[in-house]
Amino acid sequence: PAGLVWFRRDLRANDHAALYHALRHCRQVHCAFVFDTAILQGLPQQDRRVEFIRESLVQLDEALRQLAGRPGAGLIVRHAAAEAEIPRLARELGVQSVFANHDYEPGAAARDARVRGALAHAGIALHTSKDQAIFEGEELLTQAGTAYSVFTPYKRAWLAKVDAFYLKSYPVERHAAALAERPATLRKEVSTLEDIGFEPTNLWQLPVPPGAQGGRALLDDFLTRLDRYHATRDFPGVKGPSYLGVHLRFGTVSIRELARLAHVRASKSEGAATWLSELIWRDFYFQILSNFPHVADEAGNGRSFRREYDAIAWEKGARARQLFAAWCEGRTGYPIVDAAMHQLNQTGYMHNRLRMVAASFLCKDLGVDWRWGERYFAAHLNDYDLSANNGGWQWASSSGCDAQPYFRIFNPVSQSRKFDADGKFIARYLPQLAKLPAAAMHAPWEARPEELEAAGLALGRDYPRPIVDHDEARRTTLQRYSVVKSKA
Ligand code: FAD
Repeated sequence: PAGLVWFRRDLRANDHAALYHALRHCRQVHCAFVFDTAILQGLPQQDRRVEFIRESLVQLDEALRQLAGRPGAGLIVRHAAAEAEIPRLARELGVQSVFANHDYEPGAAARDARVRGALAHAGIALHTSKDQAIFEGEELLTQAGTAYSVFTPYKRAWLAKVDAFYLKSYPVERHAAALAERPATLRKEVSTLEDIGFEPTNLWQLPVPPGAQGGRALLDDFLTRLDRYHATRDFPGVKGPSYLGVHLRFGTVSIRELARLAHVRASKSEGAATWLSELIWRDFYFQILSNFPHVADEAGNGRSFRREYDAIAWEKGARARQLFAAWCEGRTGYPIVDAAMHQLNQTGYMHNRLRMVAASFLCKDLGVDWRWGERYFAAHLNDYDLSANNGGWQWASSSGCDAQPYFRIFNPVSQSRKFDADGKFIARYLPQLAKLPAAAMHAPWEARPEELEAAGLALGRDYPRPIVDHDEARRTTLQRYSVVKSKA
């Protein structure tokens, strides 16, 4: 029999569940990726993720040819509506089965269900496998048989269940002989950005090397720092985290490999144990999305995990739009928040500590609906993932499953003093503040006039004054959240 592997967010040719199953079960295996016009049409012409995907496909194509040991093998790349194109391609290639990996996003799951139906019509089967997560859906349940909604017991259950079986890699190379030659009509170079209507971004100027090779390089670099992760991960001015988020998003690294590396070192290394915990958070939010689908619908309009939080009255109208625009553009007057937003806008990355601070600031200092921030992050993060992003926003707004209590409100100035004490991060993204003494960088409106003068800084001209007063905003927020108090 012949099979077709449909690559989506799993752009690597090693340790790949769907590819492995296809190679094991079929004599002739074709590989395809579709630049899905249904997704691309909603994106701006410059999108770092599209460029990252395109470069990753070039590497995937090459890796598949090497694996097959034949230049005629490789990746078939199409630019069309995937929903129609996959059944069409499957018929054209004459395959009996299509293989793909699970995608937990509601929109993708609905698309897959439609593709399954269309394929079935033509007598073709769609086989899907778990690949993105170590445990998914209902694999881990509480003793009562319900889904977990609190992280700590979930993590305990995760660690109790995980073993070599769940972490072992899929040895695709053993069965590579089944990789098929591409028919001559489908043997084309990977489409350029221009071919699909996009323009280059600044991706190449960023430390975001694409593809499986990029993922490997970042991982090798991170492994030299892994043992210090617990001590460095909270400081945005320090190279602490792995920066592998975008590679996990597009599957240019294997989660099994990462979890295995962390798991074997976790008993000896606090850094590895802490990092493993972060990888478990990723699984946790995947299963929240699967088991509590009301948090995000197909169109991305989610409701609060705790439904009573939907009664909160957020700022509205022109004032909300003004506050939101200032937040998006990094001109709130709170340097740590503004520097974080500049990092996001310029690079597509934002440090985890700053995601928490910036998200909290939007909902609890500016009183703007967390869904607006969620959408902005979704549009700009290279590693955007619906489950983790929704989970992170609902955590920050306190509406989420295992969220921080609504009355815990980050003070942006204390967060800044604690996590960017020397102002190194702020200075990187707000160079106009770099000449202030570090102590004054966190709250320039409190700087002494001679400090401002020495730094050549005029507030209101070179850098905005704060758009809200934190203490006042805090009181308004507690008032705003009082609708949930009785139920919290
Ligand atoms: P590392 O610290 O090296 O962590 C390794 C990996 O663990 C990450 O790549 C990620 O896959 C996973 N991870 C770490 N923290 C979390 C977490 N809290 N929840 C789920 N997975 C986690 N993460 C995303 O992958 N996509 C998002 O769209 C996203 N949006 C977020 C929005 C908000 C408001 C918040 C507070 C957090 C968000 N996160 C998101 C989680 C976290 O900030 C990023 O995963 C992390 O900063 C990515 O950088 P890294 O790869 O260097 O992380």
